[in-house]
Amino acid sequence: MADSVFHKDFKSMPWWWEWWHPNTELSQDPPRKTDVLVVGAGYGGLSTALELARSGVEVTVLERGAFGDGASTRNGGGVSGGTTLGKGFSGKGVRSDPEEWKKVMSRMLSDAADSLSQVETVIQREGIECYWRMNGRFSGAFTPKHYNEQAAKVGTYNSNAGLGTYMVPREQQREEIASDYYYGGMVVERTGQLHPALYYGGLLKATHKAGARLCAQCDAEKIERRTGGFTVLTNKGPIEAREVVIATNGYTGDVTPTLKRRLVPVASHIIATEELPEDLIKSLIPKGRVVSDTKRVLCYYRRSPDDKRVIFGGRARFTQVTPEVSAPVLHRYMLERWPQLKGTKVTHAWTGNVAFAFDFLPHMGQEQGMHYLMACNGSGVAMMSYLGYQTARKIAGGSNAPVNAFDGQDFPTMPFYSGNPWFLPMVGAWYRTRDWWDRLTA
Ligand SMILES: Cc1cc2nc3c(=O)[nH]c(=O)nc-3n(C[C@H](O)[C@H](O)[C@H](O)COP(=O)(O)OP(=O)(O)OC[C@H]3O[C@@H](n4cnc5c(N)ncnc54)[C@H](O)[C@@H]3O)c2cc1C
Repeated sequence: MADSVFHKDFKSMPWWWEWWHPNTELSQDPPRKTDVLVVGAGYGGLSTALELARSGVEVTVLERGAFGDGASTRNGGGVSGGTTLGKGFSGKGVRSDPEEWKKVMSRMLSDAADSLSQVETVIQREGIECYWRMNGRFSGAFTPKHYNEQAAKVGTYNSNAGLGTYMVPREQQREEIASDYYYGGMVVERTGQLHPALYYGGLLKATHKAGARLCAQCDAEKIERRTGGFTVLTNKGPIEAREVVIATNGYTGDVTPTLKRRLVPVASHIIATEELPEDLIKSLIPKGRVVSDTKRVLCYYRRSPDDKRVIFGGRARFTQVTPEVSAPVLHRYMLERWPQLKGTKVTHAWTGNVAFAFDFLPHMGQEQGMHYLMACNGSGVAMMSYLGYQTARKIAGGSNAPVNAFDGQDFPTMPFYSGNPWFLPMVGAWYRTRDWWDRLTA
């Protein structure tokens, strides 16, 4: 079709995988017994294992597929230090006391800012070459009301987390983005970006080097509690472990049903464009920031790390759909912001699962004796790496006391919800309608 958005060499796979592809090279046979068993080898599971191995604890990681099959090599590579927090914070048992609530939020913001520093520390210490840059984020306001809401938060972000946040009015917006789509927006200078698959590959290598045993194509099928620990049944035989860590986020399944019912797995989709002329690509986001917006059906986008193409992501649908469905929708969203990209073709399109909690907060803690870290709420490059590190510190230190503001918080679910988000298409349609109405009445 002449007007197709697809490039003739289109691939239905993350563009990042052209640089680092999921594989099983470092995989070993699973042991019969291990001190700590981590289920899921994304950023969360690997960060847990890396820190445990560095602390001299024997640790094994199980990954159901190849290493890198999950969201950790599929994301947009924006590394947020906390501005995505707090959207729906329930504040249960706390909010009735506004002062106490303020303190909890302030600790959460401060810990989320630490998550950014943690990623930076690991990248530097392990020498991971992943195009790490601290170029900041521009969050475009979809309506004037959103702009005012953003402006009201600037002080909180700066005083609690030192994020270097400031507002950019609409008249100056073109300093941030070659578009008039937004009503101004907020800059968060302490935001990073990286190549997600190269970061993942580096983390995997570092974890292996530190002495963790990594087992690909090893599916945890059942977890049985026994005196002094657990027996985990896998497709490659049973494994005994003193401690178990669940780090399966958007891919959490029936092996941990009580965790599954606390998460809503939501699909996120991304396209990569063909290479663009140097002048054009540089003009689109002059300061090379990560861009996102305040829409309910949000989009997030950036230049590719080699500054040649646009990587454009968003909730084209809330469920898994084929690129034939998601790519034209994302392409349309991209043209709404940048009409100058008319005719630009899509070379890659892909999808992956994020996990939302009902309170929109990340969580770590213990459930039925197992540790867990999950609920990235769409923003987990820094947070899942951080919660993995923190879980490891907790296990290595043998302490049960909460180690950060996300540890041991109430992790809510809904009555009759078993983890099957049948309602997502309706939520997606409702959000799109609300966005349309907000803009119409802006
Ligand atoms: C399209 C997309 C764009 C995103 N963009 C951004 C972004 O720009 N910035 C940002 O901060 N975040 C972003 N995210 C979110 C981020 O990618 C995730 O928060 C992060 O990768 C989660 O890491 P994780 O280790 O918790 O989970 P994952 O990386 O998803 O790993 C979980 C692993 O567990 C494995 N698993 C599940 N069950 C079992 C089992 N029973 N046995 C063995 N293994 C099992 C799965 O196979 C999977 O590999 C995005 C996500 C997607 C999908």
